[in-house]
Amino acid sequence: CGIVGYVGRNQRPDDVLLSGLSTLEYRGYDSAGIAVANGTLQVAKKEGELSALENAVSERTFDGTAGIGHTRWSTHGPPSDRNSHPHTDEDETVAVVHNGIIENYQTLRDELEADGVSFTSETDSEVVPHLVAAYLAEGDDAETAFRRAVDRLEGSYALACVVADEDAIFAVRNDSPLVLGIGDDGYYLASDVPAFLEHTRDVVYLEDGQFATLRPDGWTVTERDGSVADPSVTTVEWSA
Ligand code: GLU
Repeated sequence: CGIVGYVGRNQRPDDVLLSGLSTLEYRGYDSAGIAVANGTLQVAKKEGELSALENAVSERTFDGTAGIGHTRWSTHGPPSDRNSHPHTDEDETVAVVHNGIIENYQTLRDELEADGVSFTSETDSEVVPHLVAAYLAEGDDAETAFRRAVDRLEGSYALACVVADEDAIFAVRNDSPLVLGIGDDGYYLASDVPAFLEHTRDVVYLEDGQFATLRPDGWTVTERDGSVADPSVTTVEWSA
């Protein structure tokens, strides 16, 4: 339903993510969660209102320079803490948030389970972190592993992914909106502009099939075939 992301060094990622998610509440949701990469992954997710997530994280410190968040409107698997996003692989190395529907998730899940992977949720989305982890285990770098995982997917998706030891967000869209926010001291990602409008008005609208990699010191957009895209940065004039 709603996706947010932030990379940067000057703000607490949990604050940016939670306030971004609150601007997306109007879309409706049944659960919410965040993940921040900091050598290890810190993940918190809760069924119910955003206040339930805020209570769950209030005693914790989410240090790190790359984080993602999600409000879920469930399509596959009922609302529950386990079915909330972000979803992770078994080692909690990879965390993914997803909007949309992975049509071929059952085939992918059968394949991963045959390889010994155990799932914790009933969602279509959980195949993604397990696929990324499988490609990392084959020796791929994080961006390549993410692209290979996405290559396997059929359906509609906006995805954002963090990996424990990477100061980066890897993202892609296909039939589900995703926008970058280009700030002075960090970069933002969201399914809808209001999520980061308090931080920046300079936005890049991703097109279907485009990938984005955000790091604290730069961002790139590439096409599905890996070629570098040259998207225009638009300044949003309206107020939320
Ligand atoms: N299909 C996913 C799920 O059921 C994502 C739903 C959404 O877009 O929030 O968890």
